[in-house]
Amino acid sequence: MVVVLAALVVVVGLAACAGDDREDQAASRSRVAASAVDDTRVAFGRAAQALHDRDRDAYDAALPARGTDARRALGDLYRRLSPLPWVSFSFIVTPVPGYDGRFLVQACGRLRGVGPSDRLAGERILEVEAGGGQVTVVGDQTPKPVRWQYLMAFDEPLALRRNGLVVVGDRGARRWLESIAAAGAGARARLERLAIGSDEGVLVTVYRSGSQMSAAFAGGISDERMRFFAHSTPRRDAAPWRRYDVAVLGPELTGLGASVERVLAHELTHAYTVDWFLATEHAPTLLLEGLAEVVDGVGDGDSAALREELRGGNRLWPLSDALATGDLWSGNSYGDIDLAYTMAESLVAYVVSEWGVEALKPFCQAVADSDFSREGLDRATRASLGVGWSRFYAGWRRSVLGS
Ligand SMILES: [Zn+2]
Repeated sequence: MVVVLAALVVVVGLAACAGDDREDQAASRSRVAASAVDDTRVAFGRAAQALHDRDRDAYDAALPARGTDARRALGDLYRRLSPLPWVSFSFIVTPVPGYDGRFLVQACGRLRGVGPSDRLAGERILEVEAGGGQVTVVGDQTPKPVRWQYLMAFDEPLALRRNGLVVVGDRGARRWLESIAAAGAGARARLERLAIGSDEGVLVTVYRSGSQMSAAFAGGISDERMRFFAHSTPRRDAAPWRRYDVAVLGPELTGLGASVERVLAHELTHAYTVDWFLATEHAPTLLLEGLAEVVDGVGDGDSAALREELRGGNRLWPLSDALATGDLWSGNSYGDIDLAYTMAESLVAYVVSEWGVEALKPFCQAVADSDFSREGLDRATRASLGVGWSRFYAGWRRSVLGS
């Protein structure tokens, strides 16, 4: 095979010289380039299979490397990704336009127990010399901020699969991984309160430090509130995946004790209800947080403050405004934020107590599809619950005021 391809390159080269025609030369160059791309794809395909099979020798044989950078890049990909439980794994290789021999290499696949099948695990921009069926990786042009992105953040990865969770972190953080995996059982029991959750697992990544977490998000985490959160699943397809992943800053677990279960239940609610809002016009934060607050089930909001607000005519943060607010946090005092969360929880709890858990998703979707005007909300509650907005509002108010 190698010999045949080498001969082909020579023949093409001769034909181009003899033809003395720029178009011919360009065409032959692009044929050579196309065969180099094909060879590169074949080599990375073999390497992906070897990584999946945890066969380091086959991996090295598929992708010879020259120079420290290239060797390190390939070694890092192998060391950080091969220990993970892949059902399928591939390297998607795309030429970088304008740079001969430079390729975007995306590591992606499906982890056992958790979708999607095109989950992004890592990305590298590698320089490759290819020709005559020989492919050698000769350089790494990956910008620093993306080197340890996604699952490449873990130096010595460990994956635990338990209680419908796939918990991934570093071996050295095993204690934290175990604590999350164990909390999965109680968290799932809490999810049953709203009949959410399914056989489909959720990936929870556990980070040793803020800088490791930051690296996993290519530096995109700067908010100190980001300690325990649900986020969209990175995948090759531009369409959002129907579940979120959950990220945990390990050191935060130390002081949590038994409340790990509650915090995990809150984030799993976000992970499992994201698909309720994929096709709706909006995804009201108040509803998202209301669902999660009912599931985590502490009722830790200041209900006295909410009662006071409602007795005062709900002027500080009217329910319809709160539903239309995208970010409940920015620009608001802790008191206001607390009020919004208490409002959110009471709203979801009210719908469940009056209309049952089955009414919750249609209600959330109808409200999310409205324009939050009085007429829009009226249409939403009529369509989903069979009552107008004013009756709904009065009922909610009574449920909060306890009269
Ligand atoms: Zn939340």
